[in-house]
Amino acid sequence: MKAAVLHEFGADLVIEDVQVADPAPNEVLIRAVASGVCHTDRTMQLGANALPLPLLLGHEVSGVVEAVGSDVSYVSVGDHVSTTASSFCGYCRWCMRGELHHCENKGRSRPTGMAPRLSQGGRAVEPFVGLGGFAEELLVHERTLVKIPDEMPFEMAALLGCAGITGLGAVRHAAKVTAGQTVAIIGCGGVGLNAIQGARLVGAARIIAIDRIPEKLELARLMGATDAVNASEVDPVQAVLELTGTGVDHAIEVVGIESTIEQAFAMLDTMGTATVVGVPRPEMKVTIPAVQLLLEKKLQGTKMGSTRPRIDIPLYCRLYLDGRLQLDPLLSETMSLGRVNEALTQLNNPTGARTVLTF
Ligand SMILES: [Zn+2]
Ligand SMILES: [Zn+2]
Repeated sequence: MKAAVLHEFGADLVIEDVQVADPAPNEVLIRAVASGVCHTDRTMQLGANALPLPLLLGHEVSGVVEAVGSDVSYVSVGDHVSTTASSFCGYCRWCMRGELHHCENKGRSRPTGMAPRLSQGGRAVEPFVGLGGFAEELLVHERTLVKIPDEMPFEMAALLGCAGITGLGAVRHAAKVTAGQTVAIIGCGGVGLNAIQGARLVGAARIIAIDRIPEKLELARLMGATDAVNASEVDPVQAVLELTGTGVDHAIEVVGIESTIEQAFAMLDTMGTATVVGVPRPEMKVTIPAVQLLLEKKLQGTKMGSTRPRIDIPLYCRLYLDGRLQLDPLLSETMSLGRVNEALTQLNNPTGARTVLTF
C-alpha cells in the first residue's frame, strides 16, 4: 500500500510502498477513507520527540474495517471506524477507575519479538501512536478503534478523533462546565473551537473566545462564542474582567505556554477553575499569586480532554447527525495523500480549521 513516510526530521514526507503484516489476533486492518492533518504531526515531523525513523505520521483517521484478527470481537469487516490515540487496555488501575485516558498499556506496539506491523524491505516503519494515518491502510490494535454510524461522513469523523474529543472533553469531563456559567477559551485552534462548542452544548451563559488571529475569532463566533477578544490588540485578562465584571467561572487554556496559563488563572472569578489543555514543554514553570488560592480558585490540567472515546465519539457523531454539533466549519479543505506536504506546511499559518486527506 502507499503511505507518506518520514525518513529524516525536517524533511518532506515521501509517498512510497509500505508492506503491511497480517493482523495478529487482536489487530484490525483498516482501509483509510479520511485522515486529519494535525499540528502534532507537524511537530513530530520537525523532530520534537525524536521518534524512531522511518516514521509514518497521521493519527486522526476514519475508515472501513478490511480484516480482523482471530480474537477481535468489537468490530467486523465492513464496519465504519474512527481511530484514537487515546486507546485503553481495560484492566490496568486507571481503566478500572474509568479514567481510560491514563491507561498504562495502550497497546500501541506489538510485543517485542514479533515482526513489525509495517515495513519496507524488511525494515520496520514506525506508525505514530500505533496508528500511522497518512497511509491507504492501517494495521492497529482493536482498542484504538471506535465504531461510528454508517451515515457519519468520514471526513467529519476524522475531525473528532483528536481535536474534537480533546476540546469537547476538556469542557465536559475536566472542567465540568454547567449551564449558566461563564467560560473563557484561550486559543481558538481546532481544540479551542471544539471547547467553545462544548461550552455552548452544556449551556454556558457567556463564552468568551480569545485569540490573536481574526479569522479564528470569526470561526469562534460561528461555534458559539458570545464574545471575542483579540489578544494582539488588548490585554485579555483586562478584557475578560471588563466583560464579566467579576471574572469567569472557567478559563480553558489551549495554548500551553507560561503567559496564557497565568492569564487563565488571572481571569477567574472567586471559586473559578482554570483548566490547561495545551501541552507545555517539559521545562516550563508557571507563577500564580498564591494568596488567590484562599478564594478557592483552582489550576488543573487535562490529558486529551479526559475522554472515553467509545462513549464520547459515538455521542458526538449522533449530535452531528442531529445537527447539534458543528463540524463542517472545522474542515477547511480535503486533499489527496500526494499533497500531504502541502497540508503540513499550511499548519505554519493556522486558521483553526483542519485539512483532511481523503482516499
Ligand atoms: Zn491530533
Ligand atoms: Zn488500561
